[in-house]
Amino acid sequence: MTGSDPTLRPEPRPEDADRALRPKQLSDFIGQAEARANLRVFIESARQRGEAMDHALFHGPPGLGKTTLAQIMARELGVNFRMTSGPVLAKAGDLAAILTNMERNDVLFIDEIHRLNPVVEEVLYPAMEDFELDLVIGEGPAARTVRIELQPFTLVGATTRLGLLTTPLRDRFGIPTRLQFYTEDELHQIVTKNATKLGAPADDEGAREIARRSRGTPRIAGRLLRRVLDFAIVDGDGRITRDLADNALTRLGVDHLGLDGADRRYMKLMADHYGGGPVGIETLSAALSESRDALEEVIEPYLLQQGLIQRTPRGRMLAQKAWRHLGLEAPRAPGQGQLFDG
Ligand code: ADP
Repeated sequence: MTGSDPTLRPEPRPEDADRALRPKQLSDFIGQAEARANLRVFIESARQRGEAMDHALFHGPPGLGKTTLAQIMARELGVNFRMTSGPVLAKAGDLAAILTNMERNDVLFIDEIHRLNPVVEEVLYPAMEDFELDLVIGEGPAARTVRIELQPFTLVGATTRLGLLTTPLRDRFGIPTRLQFYTEDELHQIVTKNATKLGAPADDEGAREIARRSRGTPRIAGRLLRRVLDFAIVDGDGRITRDLADNALTRLGVDHLGLDGADRRYMKLMADHYGGGPVGIETLSAALSESRDALEEVIEPYLLQQGLIQRTPRGRMLAQKAWRHLGLEAPRAPGQGQLFDG
């Protein structure tokens, strides 16, 4: 993303492929209590019946644990885990190759399922419903359809944009699950656990400071912990205290609400140039040189959750809390007063 430190964004980066920090079992997974409790029941029931678990759809902003939960599901079901993503499955044959190689009751994880090619999506419907593939072999008048029986399987779809899923696809998931931003206490537990795994001594207040400024996202918490640890080793005595964490995070451009440069640029643009809105998403996207998707998937969900912005039919608006956070005075235009109440 332009103008922002990629360390602070929730999209995966190569260094995140750190298996050591990924929880391995449902009981190790902190947070998402409701989703976890439900999944436990569905997993246990599928195991007792010896059948494939129903298809599950995880939706929510990046970095909240969709992939991790899918891997845990497969492990607890005692089946193989196969992983692919919407944009990678370009042709029906790509999907067929994966599905025909799966064993009974395996889990297939499709990330970014909202970006599935419509042709592939058509093939997926009968596969999900009846464990059958209808493939067209050959071309023109000689073309014919062959039906292939598949082993039963569980599809786990993940998406940051539920609204972009077609209705027929959405309706085929028996278990839709929304993942929420994590609370400070949950992130505190995660940071403390990860610090132990990394062999980094973090005191309680140090871990809490990182938790508080992780944008509600475990992936960011993991990344900030590593960066703070770098500062602790180079500038301090290796221990992560509150002061050290505070200084390190401030130097990384993470403010007290956990907002980074990109978040602040978004809010400041609205304040400085649009009087706090309403502003349309396309205008914001053009002015910030950020894609609309990046704004809607990554920046806005957390600002909305924090009550810093509001979505109205006429566009985005800054809430009172955002003006205060920016240290600015909100304009008092007639008739808009109540809209600003954040
Ligand atoms: P998503 O698929 O939603 O983008 P991931 O499952 O890849 O997110 O998780 C991102 C990172 O955050 C991973 O490194 C994972 O280990 C960590 N993580 C996610 N959820 C948790 C959790 N509940 N407890 C501890 N770590 C977590």
